[in-house]
Amino acid sequence: MAHNFDGFFYPKSIAIVGASSKEKTLGRELMKNLLNFGYNGKIYPINPKADMILDVKAYPAVTAIEDSIDLAIIMVSKQFIISSIDDCAEKNIRNIIVITAGFKEVGEEGIEMEKLLMKKISDYGMRMVGPNCMGIINTKEGVMMNGTFVQGEPNPGGIGFVSQSGALGAAVLKILKLKDVGFAQFLSIGNKADIDETGMLEYWRDNDDVKVITLYLESFGDARKFMETAKTVTKKKPVISIKAARTAAGMKAASSHTGALASADTVVDAIFEQSGVIRVASVDELFDLAKSFDRTILPEGKRVGILTNAGGPAILTVDEAQNSGLNVPVLSEATQNKLKEICVPEAAFSNPVDVLPPATAEIYGKATEIMMSDENIDAGIIILGPPLMHDTLEIGKHICEAVMKSGKCSTVVLMSQDDIIPKLAEAVPGHPPIFNNCEAAAKAIGQMYKYKLYKEKAEGKYIKYTGKKKIVNDILKKYKGGETYIAFDDVVEILKAYELPIVESFFAVNVQQSVDIADKIGYPVVIKVAGKKLVHKSDVGGVIVNIKNLEELIQAENKIIAGLKEKGIDNQLEGFTIQPFIKGGTETILGVMKDAKAGHLVAFGMGGVMVEVMKDVKFKLLPVNDMEAEELIKSVNAYRILKGVRGNPPVDIEFVKGNILKLSQLISDFPEIEELDLNPFVFSHQADRSKILDARIKIKL
Ligand code: ADP
Ligand code: MG
Repeated sequence: MAHNFDGFFYPKSIAIVGASSKEKTLGRELMKNLLNFGYNGKIYPINPKADMILDVKAYPAVTAIEDSIDLAIIMVSKQFIISSIDDCAEKNIRNIIVITAGFKEVGEEGIEMEKLLMKKISDYGMRMVGPNCMGIINTKEGVMMNGTFVQGEPNPGGIGFVSQSGALGAAVLKILKLKDVGFAQFLSIGNKADIDETGMLEYWRDNDDVKVITLYLESFGDARKFMETAKTVTKKKPVISIKAARTAAGMKAASSHTGALASADTVVDAIFEQSGVIRVASVDELFDLAKSFDRTILPEGKRVGILTNAGGPAILTVDEAQNSGLNVPVLSEATQNKLKEICVPEAAFSNPVDVLPPATAEIYGKATEIMMSDENIDAGIIILGPPLMHDTLEIGKHICEAVMKSGKCSTVVLMSQDDIIPKLAEAVPGHPPIFNNCEAAAKAIGQMYKYKLYKEKAEGKYIKYTGKKKIVNDILKKYKGGETYIAFDDVVEILKAYELPIVESFFAVNVQQSVDIADKIGYPVVIKVAGKKLVHKSDVGGVIVNIKNLEELIQAENKIIAGLKEKGIDNQLEGFTIQPFIKGGTETILGVMKDAKAGHLVAFGMGGVMVEVMKDVKFKLLPVNDMEAEELIKSVNAYRILKGVRGNPPVDIEFVKGNILKLSQLISDFPEIEELDLNPFVFSHQADRSKILDARIKIKL
């Protein structure tokens, strides 16, 4: 069940433990903010040395208050934290925000302090935000709580914002009005010893005051849990996160291709993508998009109409719209005719519509209305360059009213007139999102359209595959303790047990055996060095392909041995692997790696010996459902080749998908597999000629 944090966000009474009248103290700033923003509940400043703080009666301790208290915001010095918590427990206060810093973030001693603090909190059955945080905001009428100590007045709206960085939160709060960004609720989670981003996601999922969720994360509390929870939220309301998050210490040096191709960032990308969280690169982008979700509706389709009074910005907007997956279609004859009736003849009517600088507020408004009602248009971007002779605010009002009437997704751009944005926002309640930059507006609509598609997408299905578990179990039993590579012949059996099509492979310890095997499977064959330490075979000249006869076979073996001798590693040779030569097909890599925090991920992309150079590999967290497997395939360039290029017949994508799903099952059944590389996994248009040519498995018991 979702946690209910109503006590934090809708408190009827707040105790400010450490409130102060002294200039330039957090205790005074926070009190001031609560009072100035017009908090609707009762405020109880706690300070043993004062009778009144900013004209509010002060108390020596929470235990001295007669009424019940919903929330305590604590900012006393570190050494008094624990006794303050004891007091709160005595007073039966369940919701605690600890603003005080000097905990986990300062190292060793702080870590211990934080543990102690957290133990108190859980022993008392309390919930805590922080420590080391900046506070909380709820702009809802009837609450009006600004429980932060930073300057800048909260601007009401539908955005929920969780910030792991206090400084960033503070910076954002200062520019809200300027950028027309409206917060419903804000929480600075600080060290997130108790309440973290996942808890907030759950809470806001079911909170109707928050329409869109924004996150600034630097790390995940529990990456898996975050993903599972986010999945349940993003279909209901958009969640947007800035790119700072890393799975801290999640990565370690990997000897596998898959591991080498992953970075902390790819893992975070996978987490966000798979849970439907929209990841953005900058704070600007975060709030441009958030305010769009907040202030206008999702576009029904991807056709956008652009209206402007200047050519340049319109061209940039068209480019960005197309980059963002939108179309800019020609307007209907009827629409164009209507526009001609009201605009100067030199105006442009097709799309973008250019009403030219002489356009008055009335003409701007009317033209907007006409364009927005065109049935070829799903969304509108109305751009207003600084008008030479008219009043920007007046035109802005007409535009806002026209787009609001249209009932379609729309954005308004006031180019280089930042000072007008807050004025227009205030003048038009329920106004559409107002930007100062036309590309940002186009990008936001593109993202909203993608989100609409995501929201409508059917849920994927987890397909259960029954592998021969006993075979794998028996093999793994042979390996004891620690991290070990599985011998190649065992790898072959494991893959076979899950019907993963490993090429026929035989092991020979001498020339005669090689010859016999080659005769049996028939030429052409491939030989490869075999030896526990010879992990990357091509690197030591240890793979020779397309061997057509006995003579070539002997030559090849001699050549490999000579090469190893030259490198002084011939003592590592244990024998040769012999396989039929598989001609043609597309070499892919299908692999698995394990992130210390996020768990197993599957990777897919262009494979072969150049895999690290091509870097055409994408990741998903395991297990994957059928839809995720398909998305993974389609997200890499290899997909375009698999589909058939230059007259090559296409590979059956369902077959590729089937293999990913079987691999997913293998890992679910045997999570002790740490790393797995199937590289190359060659796909041909005939499924029975699609083979895994090389495989490696590392386990950790
Ligand atoms: P390693 O990755 O250790 O260098 P591989 O077994 O992956 O060795 O072989 C390297 C390359 O040789 C493969 O990417 C593939 O192009 C080719 N190759 C390997 N085995 C076969 C085979 N049975 N048939 C055709 N080509 C092969
Ligand atoms: Mg290989």
